Amino acid sequence: MKFAVDQNKCIGCGACEGICPKVFEMPDDKAQVILDPVPETLRKCALDAEDGCPVGAITHSNKE
Ligand code: SF4
Repeated sequence: MKFAVDQNKCIGCGACEGICPKVFEMPDDKAQVILDPVPETLRKCALDAEDGCPVGAITHSNKE
């Protein structure tokens, strides 16, 4: 599963990093995906982070 953060939507709240720090990181004022593809063991927390994003900036695809 692949995750992406829309840099134009992200408001830098840090929620995704708080929920799933192994997949999302905030090097600057926007979140980045640091694992691509996201391994099976981290899918649930990455999906939780997607659900928790207040502006819907995180999306995923089921490829790989
Ligand atoms: S939860 Fe959404 S808005 Fe907040 S830092 Fe992560 S991607 Fe950006």
